[in-house]
Amino acid sequence: MYNETAYALGTNSCIIRDIAEYGARRAAEIGDENVFNFTIGNPSLPTPPEVTRAIVDILRDTDNLALHSYTPAIGDADCRKAIAADLKARYGGDISAEDLFIGCGASPELAAVFQAVSFPGAEIVALAPYFPEYRPFVEAAGAKFVVVPPDMPTFQICTDAVEAALTPNTAAVIVNSPNNPAGTVYTEQSLVALADLLRRKAAEYGHPIYLVSDDPYRELTYGGVEAVFLPKLYDDTVVCYSYSKSLTLPGERIGYIYVPKACADSKAIYAAICGAARAIGHICAPSLWQKVIARCAHLRPDLSDYDRNRRALYEGLTKAGYEVAKPDGAFYMFVKAPGGNSVAFAEKAKKYDLFIVPGDDFGCPEYFRLCYCGPLEKIQKSLPIFEKLMEE
Ligand code: PLP
Repeated sequence: MYNETAYALGTNSCIIRDIAEYGARRAAEIGDENVFNFTIGNPSLPTPPEVTRAIVDILRDTDNLALHSYTPAIGDADCRKAIAADLKARYGGDISAEDLFIGCGASPELAAVFQAVSFPGAEIVALAPYFPEYRPFVEAAGAKFVVVPPDMPTFQICTDAVEAALTPNTAAVIVNSPNNPAGTVYTEQSLVALADLLRRKAAEYGHPIYLVSDDPYRELTYGGVEAVFLPKLYDDTVVCYSYSKSLTLPGERIGYIYVPKACADSKAIYAAICGAARAIGHICAPSLWQKVIARCAHLRPDLSDYDRNRRALYEGLTKAGYEVAKPDGAFYMFVKAPGGNSVAFAEKAKKYDLFIVPGDDFGCPEYFRLCYCGPLEKIQKSLPIFEKLMEE
């Protein structure tokens, strides 16, 4: 006997990984220079040198026990203080170490938050296009996963569609801006409209509707566009942050959850997050990385390489006749598949050793995702292939 749900999740292939792995096999066969793999969102900027220096200093200056011990489950106080100070300096407001929970990156943080806000019969709303892992996290929390289509072709929030999806069982709405996979940064206007709607509906239903702000790309914006820090617009927000992308640390597993004091039932929500994390086996985030973040929470990435790639790919694709959602953030581009079937288009692209991710799992099957991390030359060399595919 075994858990059928867990089995299904463990054996269901993940299209992003499948294509990425096929691309890696092709690179081994025919040489990496002949393969154009736009699949996995692995950041490619070098980790800031301050981070490397911090690791070396910590290893040299910290005694073995202090370095490798468990920390409190909520995270080391110095780490939480440093993050609180940084958030306060950037966004103002009453943010303190007690409002923060240090987690192992956005994924387990989201899983814990979804559990913490779910009641029997709860529904959690995701705005398409969305990060595919939301679904298993929400369903593991016992909640129903509800998808809302975007405003087209802007990929901004369609408030009417959100309103149609809300019910008295809505526990939370997930917002991810900058967005994976579209690179969209939601405008302040669209977020204000969403916040107004949620306040109105929460009053009508007689319970809070939480906004879960999935923020791993918060600093990754271009051309003067900035992502709105949601607690400034809506009190009942819980923020899940990760250093995976901003400091290029995806394999190290470090981030934080921020529960603002103004959030409804903030103390109970924080305690429920601690309990949910405990129930999924969280002991503490890696001790070394908490010490690194205590010194590096203020760092920001230098995005010039991503921005250069973004502009080259966007210009090349639009010139070739592709319809592209203009990305102002993250490092993804969402492109309409000629013919409207992204799975069929991804199959065609494979013949040229060009690997892209169909949009089905993101909730938008007519579009495909490109991750533009990596060398500019790859993008430049791939453009004639995209042109050929468009001609076909
Ligand atoms: N949320 C979004 C939108 C993402 O794109 C990712 C990773 O790609 C995550 C969450 C999870 O990030 P991590 O668990 O590495 O912090």
